[in-house]
Amino acid sequence: MKGIIQDLNYNRICELVADLGEPKFRAKQLFTGLAQGKRISGISVLPKSLKDKLLADFEDCPIEIIQTLTSADGTEKYLFRLADGNVIEGVLMKYKYGNTQCVSTQVGCRMGCKFCASTLGGRVRDLTSGEILSQVLLINALHQQGKERGVTNIVLMGSGEPLDNYDNVVEFLKNVTSPDGINISARNISLSTCGLVDKMYALADEGLPVNLTVSLHSTTDSERARTMPIANKWTIAEILKACENYFDKTGRRYIFEYALIEGENCDERHADELITLLKGKPCHVNLIRLNEVKERSLAAAGEKAAYRFLGLLEKGGLSATLRRRTGADIGGACGQLRVNYLQNKE
Ligand code: SAH
Repeated sequence: MKGIIQDLNYNRICELVADLGEPKFRAKQLFTGLAQGKRISGISVLPKSLKDKLLADFEDCPIEIIQTLTSADGTEKYLFRLADGNVIEGVLMKYKYGNTQCVSTQVGCRMGCKFCASTLGGRVRDLTSGEILSQVLLINALHQQGKERGVTNIVLMGSGEPLDNYDNVVEFLKNVTSPDGINISARNISLSTCGLVDKMYALADEGLPVNLTVSLHSTTDSERARTMPIANKWTIAEILKACENYFDKTGRRYIFEYALIEGENCDERHADELITLLKGKPCHVNLIRLNEVKERSLAAAGEKAAYRFLGLLEKGGLSATLRRRTGADIGGACGQLRVNYLQNKE
């Protein structure tokens, strides 16, 4: 595989263009074209000689859409192909305030959560910062209307564990929030982790005040370990301390994801334990009804049980919401589009 030019920030594009013996204004043209989601070959203001030089070293198309599913509510799911033939997926959810894109950070995942489809084949490889950024640039260009951005918010909740690909993800966050580029505010970006505590401390010191979301899904370490192997490494108490540190350093309230799994984590006892763990903390609980993955035997809590659990948390004084189900008709839990694609290919 050649290099990924979207890995380079503006300064490095300037160095590259200078090394190729081209005038500085070409760097600006190149960078602007890439930020608009164009391929190198599609930046018409650049002379062919420069494009040929770039294409000798860099991929023209680091990512392309090979399938789009559109829901009645406007949600779009994409299957992307990377330059090396690997596939990843992404989602764009449309809300009144803007469009939220869910991006992937790895091909597959090695965290092994029992409810998640992304982890079925393990981790294939990390994405580079430019491959993560290219997902945003492509979808932004596709949905841009006049001066209005096509993507206003980003969640790092596609396949992969972002903090397991720490350096590339931080580089991506720097580039996507840079005023030189697409310039999406860190406040509009949420990073979701299954709880890699050491990396949560590191992230707090990066000066990138993104929203931190932790996939909790249980109230005790032993129950958590039943569905999330990472619980054998870090305890819930350690996660909570890392969240508090994140709040102290960034001033950002943190969020817990809690997928309601029937018979597993949504009894009255669990609500009580969650309240004891989180009461008085500057956090929010995002309840999700599990998306059932056919390769896994776990079942989603019913709607009634979900609202009951929500009511218990609210009564206990927690800030909590039950996530609206977008794109239910186009189906496919987290990572399933890719799994289906790989199975059909075999
Ligand atoms: N690895 C990161 C981010 C990717 S997953 C993390 O663990 O947070 C994004 C969110 O989707 C996480 O909260 C994850 O637990 C949740 N998730 C995964 N599979 C799911 C499923 N089948 N149903 C509902 N939520 C799921």
